Amino acid sequence: MSLFTEFPDIAAMGQALRAGKTSARELTQDTLDRIAQSSLNAFIQVDPDLSLAQADQADALLQSGQATALTGIPIAHKDVIVTQGWRTTAASKMLANYVSPFDATLVSQFRQAGAVSLGKLNCDEFAMGADSTSSYFGATQNPWDSNRTPGGSSGGSAAAVAAGLIMAATGTDTGGSIRQPAAHCGITGIKPTYGTVSRHGVIAYASSMDQAGPIARSARDALTLLEIMSGFDANDPTSLEQCGEHANTGGRVREQFTQQHTHFDSQGAQPLKGLRIGVPKEFFNSALDAESAALIENALQHYESLGATRVEVSLPRTQQAIPAYYVITPAEASSNLSRFDGVRFGHRAKDYHDLQSMISNSRTEAFGPEVIRRILTGTYVLCEGYYDAYYLQAQRVRRLITNDFQQVFTQCDVIMGPVTTRPAQLLSRQDADPTADWREDVYTLCANLAGLPAMAHPCGFNSANLPVGLQLIGNYFNEGQLLAIADRFQQHSDWHQRIAGTK
Ligand code: GLN
Repeated sequence: MSLFTEFPDIAAMGQALRAGKTSARELTQDTLDRIAQSSLNAFIQVDPDLSLAQADQADALLQSGQATALTGIPIAHKDVIVTQGWRTTAASKMLANYVSPFDATLVSQFRQAGAVSLGKLNCDEFAMGADSTSSYFGATQNPWDSNRTPGGSSGGSAAAVAAGLIMAATGTDTGGSIRQPAAHCGITGIKPTYGTVSRHGVIAYASSMDQAGPIARSARDALTLLEIMSGFDANDPTSLEQCGEHANTGGRVREQFTQQHTHFDSQGAQPLKGLRIGVPKEFFNSALDAESAALIENALQHYESLGATRVEVSLPRTQQAIPAYYVITPAEASSNLSRFDGVRFGHRAKDYHDLQSMISNSRTEAFGPEVIRRILTGTYVLCEGYYDAYYLQAQRVRRLITNDFQQVFTQCDVIMGPVTTRPAQLLSRQDADPTADWREDVYTLCANLAGLPAMAHPCGFNSANLPVGLQLIGNYFNEGQLLAIADRFQQHSDWHQRIAGTK
């Protein structure tokens, strides 16, 4: 039995907690037991004492009548988000024993709200990847089929939520790492507008695109998390100050969600009447597998039955997003990861004879092949002489992609399409070309290059009972709108209520 059999969503669990029908300690102990029995390898570190201490604090908050919607709710953090007490490894040998002296801003936000952290979730090394197999701590399994990957890089987050081990999780998304594993695990995840959630204490991969967000069971649950984790943070120089009348962006997201719903409620049987869905023709290319395409088509028809209309739009540089992204992100990564030198941070080699060999031996020993590939690629594209040909060119493509979106948003309110080209892949597969996986990111990268909010929600299962996700991309600051639209869909469908391991 999973948590979801008893509590369909965070609201139901919160109600039971506030009514005294259960306690944070009881839920936490129960969750720890389930995690101990799970063979998914979704967690890198669990510490019962730390979690139970947080549970007791949550129970005190519940008794004092000061509980929030998240007080006592079991959640967990992707292991690129720093935490006091728990190690933060970025799924790398480099940081296998690293303990941060401070909590990331978003971790503090959850602590203040009284959520109980169950530990640190597995992912691709330094969040580079799309299948959670590059972790130093071993691959995570997909709860729908243990021979398959949960997607990545936030694979542990998605697997743990889909398996009912925790109610929700945090993830990060630089090129799809929230949406893609959410789609492969049949759950809901949102990457908000760049700058909405503080990156203070989120280990940097590619700073101009990194963004944290929630992975949850439903759009409504994702909203509850996003409301808490978003807001201006002076410690993050890219944090957005613009929050309208609200003291924080979380208030803005909630208000937008509520306003949309009030509007939908007034529309009767056609709640989405007037909503224009832009469907980019480039998203339905030969890379998309036929069964996924059919399920996405069904979902679009479902949205039409709720009153929305469909317009074909064009994002002509969808393919170019791949080389642009895989020039810019390695360039940023090569610079961000230079701090891991075995002196200030990370693994230090035992054998060396001078400073140079100490640094190079430490890095060679502790970084996995994908991380090394990206550092080398990034260093190359930033070299004098190549900079103009690669980095500058990629930035120009990025600008054009950003402009394309603004053109498309004059024709529609929201963009919809696939998240991935196919359902979750086999763990045993071996690609001869190490960059084959990079091409799989074709539908998710554009939103990161442009900084737009984008989400994934489940829209069906294929003949092998593997979940397929639908992607929604909105204009800047419209995450409340995206979540409201997805929530209407979820009120009229039950894909999100399916529990992994059951038909
Ligand atoms: N798959 C993409 C990459 O490897 C996205 C990763 C991410 O969003 N963190 O870069």
